[in-house]
Amino acid sequence: MLRDSHNRIINYVRLAVTDRCNLRCTYCMPENMQFLQRKELLTYEEILAIMRPLAAAGVNKIRITGGEPFLRRDLMHLLTQLSQSEGIHEIAITTNGVLTAPFIPQLKALGINNINLSLDTLQRDKFKQITHRDQFNAVMHTLDNLLEQDMHVKLNMVVMGGVNTDELLDFAALTAHKRVTVRFIEEMPFNGQGHAFSGQQWNYRKILDTLNQHYELQKLEDAPHSTSLNYHIPGHQGRVGVIAAYSRTFCGTCNRIRITPTGGFKTCLYGHDVLNVRDLLRNGASSDLLMHEIQAALNKRAANGVEAEKGSKQWDSMSMIGG
Ligand code: SAM
Ligand code: SF4
Repeated sequence: MLRDSHNRIINYVRLAVTDRCNLRCTYCMPENMQFLQRKELLTYEEILAIMRPLAAAGVNKIRITGGEPFLRRDLMHLLTQLSQSEGIHEIAITTNGVLTAPFIPQLKALGINNINLSLDTLQRDKFKQITHRDQFNAVMHTLDNLLEQDMHVKLNMVVMGGVNTDELLDFAALTAHKRVTVRFIEEMPFNGQGHAFSGQQWNYRKILDTLNQHYELQKLEDAPHSTSLNYHIPGHQGRVGVIAAYSRTFCGTCNRIRITPTGGFKTCLYGHDVLNVRDLLRNGASSDLLMHEIQAALNKRAANGVEAEKGSKQWDSMSMIGG
C-alpha cells in the first residue's frame, strides 16, 4: 500500500495522455498554445510499465485526462490494456465531449462507465466565446448519448465571475430531468498564462449561497476521498456538487497522484513535478527502482495545496498537469 508522509493512502492516479486539445478554453490554455512533440509523450508501453507496479502497490483507480484524451491516437487500445490490468478496478475519463460520442459503446464494453464531461455554458454563442471553437452541438450530442446509454455522467462547470455565473441556476435545473451530477468548480490559475486569472471572486460558499437562494439543497454524505460537497435538490433526478478547487478544503483526505503527458510525477496539483517516470524508464529503471523513487517523493509530500504552491512562479496550462 502506498502512503505519503502524512499517512494518507494513495490509490488513485490521474494520467494526462496528451497536452493537445481541440478547444481553447480561456481558463485552461492560450489560443497559441505550443504543443509537445510526440516523442516527448509517454508511450502506451511506458504508461503500462508505470501502472503495473503502481497497481501492485494498491492503486486501483485511474482517470484518463489531458488535454483532450480522445485526440490521442488509438486511445481505445490503451483503455483496453488498462481494463485488463490486474488491480485496476476503475477507469474513468475526463473529456470535453467533442469527439467522444462514437466511442461510448466501446467504453461500455470495457466496463468504463464513469465520464466527467466538461461544459461551462448552456448557450452556443457563449460556448464559442469560452472555448474559441463552435462545438457546442457536438458536446450536447455527447451528453445526450452518454445519458441514453446509461453512463454515469458528471458535468464539470468551471465557475467564472461575469462569464457564466448567470447560468448557475440553469445548470442546477438540468438535474431536474437528467440523471446527471452537475459539479461547479472554482476556477484555478492553471491557464498557461494566457488569460488573467480572475482570482477567487466566486468561491464555493458564494456558489452554494446562490444555489440556496433558489433551491432547498439537501446535503448528501460525501464519499471518503470526495473533492466535491454533494447535494440533492428535492424532486430532481440528478445531483449537484461544488468543488472548492482553489479554496482547497479537501487536501486532508487526498488519495491521488498525477502523471503529466511527459511523465512528470506530481504529488499535488499545485506543486511542481517531483520526479519524471518517463526519463527513469528510458534510462532503464526497473519497476523496483521506479517504486522506490515514487515512495521517496511521497515521503516528502506537502501537507496540502497551499504548502505545495509555495515557490510556484508560473501557472502551467491544466492540459499539462492532468486536471
Ligand atoms: N479536455 C478534457 C476536458 O476539458 O474535460 C480533459 C482535460 S481538462 C484540463 C480537465 C478538467 O480541468 C476540465 O473539467 C476543465 O474544466 C478543468 N480545468 C481546466 N482548467 C481549469 C482551471 N483553470 N480552473 C478550474 N478547472 C479547470
Ligand atoms: Fe481543452 Fe479541456 Fe483545457 Fe478546455 S479544459 S482547453 S477542453 S484541455
